[in-house]
Amino acid sequence: MISKTPLEDWILKKISPKKDSSNLSRATIENFQLEKIKETIAYARLKSPFYKKLLAGFGSNPVRSFQDLSILPFTTSDDLKDQPMQFLCVSQSTIERCVTLQSSATTGSAKRIFFTKEDLEHTLDFFHHGMSTLVKAGDRVMILLPGDRPDSVGDLLSRALLRINVNSIKHGFVTNPEKTLNDVLKDDITCLVGTPVQILALFRCNKGKENLKDRSMKVLLTTDYVPSIISTVLENIYNCEVYSHYGMTEMGYGGGVECSARCGHHMREADLFIEIIDPKTGKILPDGEMGEIVLTTLNRIGMPLIRYRTGDMSRFLTNPCPCGTVLKRLDKIACRINSVVYLASGEPLFMPLLDEALFELPDVMDFTAELENKGDKDCLKIKLVLAAQANDDEVCAAAMKKIKLIPQIEASKKQLFIEPVKYISDLIISSGTQKRTLSDNRKEQSYTSGEFEGI
Ligand SMILES: [Zn+2]
Repeated sequence: MISKTPLEDWILKKISPKKDSSNLSRATIENFQLEKIKETIAYARLKSPFYKKLLAGFGSNPVRSFQDLSILPFTTSDDLKDQPMQFLCVSQSTIERCVTLQSSATTGSAKRIFFTKEDLEHTLDFFHHGMSTLVKAGDRVMILLPGDRPDSVGDLLSRALLRINVNSIKHGFVTNPEKTLNDVLKDDITCLVGTPVQILALFRCNKGKENLKDRSMKVLLTTDYVPSIISTVLENIYNCEVYSHYGMTEMGYGGGVECSARCGHHMREADLFIEIIDPKTGKILPDGEMGEIVLTTLNRIGMPLIRYRTGDMSRFLTNPCPCGTVLKRLDKIACRINSVVYLASGEPLFMPLLDEALFELPDVMDFTAELENKGDKDCLKIKLVLAAQANDDEVCAAAMKKIKLIPQIEASKKQLFIEPVKYISDLIISSGTQKRTLSDNRKEQSYTSGEFEGI
């Protein structure tokens, strides 16, 4: 029995507090979104120096329809790095939480995202209703995300769970899977929330293999990209019920969560308006077509965002969700645009392709991948993090076979040297704070492209 997503009732109450859920329709949602978009644009132009300047040439009421919205300029992550204070619509003293996002150690400036108390309440409210999809009073959740600081993502989630009488432990990122496992067992945890690789490591460490198989855990995998193979392994080998959450700090941490049908994310449609665009032309794509996710906030007070390009690729699914909701479904994230690297052969390579191939091997807990030059060829180097009891040489040989079967690598074999796969250690390496990416250390960057094509 598939229950309708609890987000539908929640969104209806936000849109029209007096009506019952049978009245929610796409038209009701879209009318509400359009009104909120108009309000957000008027508010941001009045209060934010960035939007005042960006939208200066667009008349006093530039948006009367979604079509009008599509001609407004985009906001990019570079804008958030270059001039974050220019986005602020309130005085700094009203800001309750500021998040600094360093994209990588080598690129200087960082994005800064600001939230007021009201903004954080919208996130709490989403976490409360979103989590009620998978947990109920009496469950015990372990949050494998940062939670020490007030209003951090783990702290907000923990507070939201208390609203449905669910206790949680703010554990933070996993640094030692065996040690975390001890806490999971000691505290009789029924649900884990964390990044896919960190959660997989818990199940694949010695103690996890012995103790987690028959516990029927609920698992919420949260990040931009969830490898399908990790969901499959957790469901088929470890009997978990696996849900995916898609979100980013710019969305107010939370974006959308799967219902019990577990086939696409239902988004916070009363808080966020999502467009899918062609990343090359900027044109809006119809539902069903893969493109870049673009975000407009509908009720953000501290730092509204208008047509913010997320860099994530996905699509809206066109057939109705088996749960029967009128809410749309955003498919799983395919990849991040700027993480696609082009091989000398012209073929694209990106981490999800390697993830799907390598995490199928039962003793692989994590890995790194980098590209270097070797003469006139590319050289791909893979290093595996393996479970303690693994036969290292056997797993490395199996990994080598798997990599060679990836179609983009198979098509590049004349111009690609694959260094024999090595193993590093049995310690987990993806801390969770940085996104896992394919590092491109080639001197000739002529094959690298930030553009998305042919995937
Ligand atoms: Zn659904």
